[in-house]
Amino acid sequence: MKASIDRDGCISCGLCASTCPGVFRMADDDLAEVYVEEVPEELEDAAIEAQENCPVSVITVQ
Ligand code: SF4
Repeated sequence: MKASIDRDGCISCGLCASTCPGVFRMADDDLAEVYVEEVPEELEDAAIEAQENCPVSVITVQ
């Protein structure tokens, strides 16, 4: 499972980084980024939760 973010649409709310800090973090430009190549199995549920709760729906987890 991989995660990605359409960073152009990110509004820097920080929700993904707090929901699943093992996959998402806030970068120096204040936009969220994915910093793992592959989502670890134990974090898949949290990554999907972040995808579902992103207020602007710019996260893809598949
Ligand atoms: S939840 Fe969405 S809008 Fe909020 S920081 Fe993450 S990617 Fe950006």
